[in-house]
Amino acid sequence: MSDHAERRPSEGPMRIALLGCTGSIGTQTLEVIEAQPERYSVVGLAARGGRIATLNEQIRRFSPLVVTIEDPTGRETVEFPSDRVLTGAEGLLALATLPEADLVVIATSGHAAIRPTLAALEAGKEIALANKETIVCAGELVTATARANGITIRPIDSEHSALWQALQGSPGHSAVRRLIITGSGGPFRTLGAEELARVSPQRALQHPTWPSMGGKITIDSATLMNKGLEVIEARWLFDLPFDQIDVIIHPQSTVHSLVEYVDGSVMAQLGPPDMRLPIAYALAYPERPALSFPRLDLTQSRDLTFEPPDDGRFPCLRLSYQAGRAGGLLPTVLSAADDEAVAAFLRGDLDFTGIARIIAATLDGYDGTSTVNLEAIEEADRWARDYARTMIVGGSR
Ligand code: MG
Repeated sequence: MSDHAERRPSEGPMRIALLGCTGSIGTQTLEVIEAQPERYSVVGLAARGGRIATLNEQIRRFSPLVVTIEDPTGRETVEFPSDRVLTGAEGLLALATLPEADLVVIATSGHAAIRPTLAALEAGKEIALANKETIVCAGELVTATARANGITIRPIDSEHSALWQALQGSPGHSAVRRLIITGSGGPFRTLGAEELARVSPQRALQHPTWPSMGGKITIDSATLMNKGLEVIEARWLFDLPFDQIDVIIHPQSTVHSLVEYVDGSVMAQLGPPDMRLPIAYALAYPERPALSFPRLDLTQSRDLTFEPPDDGRFPCLRLSYQAGRAGGLLPTVLSAADDEAVAAFLRGDLDFTGIARIIAATLDGYDGTSTVNLEAIEEADRWARDYARTMIVGGSR
């Protein structure tokens, strides 16, 4: 445990820079902060995309020192002193390394988060991480940088938060037999292969248990790609081989993941499907302040059920293990091909089962370098997007 993690409220509120403040995780992070004003203050807000009205409202509520927006032409619309409004990739970097920040929450989506995450770690900031690409594409680089700087990356994703919590008190790696990541199985868990080929984007966007997720992550949850990416993240965050990471389908989303120890004991973390809980744990770690968000009432819960994932109907999970084990830039290729395939599905240009087909073909088509650095990640990402798009246009309906 690093010294940073042991800060106490008596030192004054922990000062937070939030990258991705207007998205789903960003706004829920601000709810957690607002519920504990004695513990946290907001020193920086970075908004991606054009949600300036939301940003302006957040500026009024949290009075940050610095604000960053994506598009320089939007500067005039930000209701904040213009000399403290930064823009673009430079702005994200400045916010991630803000001298006044103790902890940086990375809740932006896509590759844009990788550089700021590395910069924040190098600047000695505590990191709470919700961005998937950072660990999927640059896991080795990012976790090595965190280790070198004595920083524990605090995962915000519910499954990784559950694993992290279930690992507290573990005597070490040799005590862990396997990590078991749970997934709801998505809205099509019970559909047959033929029905799967015909599902509509509208139907796929209805997630059964987690409210208010974005379109991409909801489709990823329906294909099980979301679990596959989480397996790759777990490999790096907890430094265990793929052979020791399993996925189990748990439709009720109450058990958020489990750790099986070598003695046969299994530790699980349970809670209502509310992202504010893993966010609150990531911010407060290693403490557990009292919170008044909705609680789990096990006397009111339906049965908790578990079943193995079906690789045949949901091949994205198998493709993720394949890319993860191959390592190098293949996880980047996997993630980029998935982005393009999901976008095509949402546009109506690809059927649901085509998503896995496009990803598999893109992985097969890749024969690039295996040197992992930021430039190589960006290059592999571009290549995979072009390759996937060409195949989608070429007719994989
Ligand atoms: Mg998750």
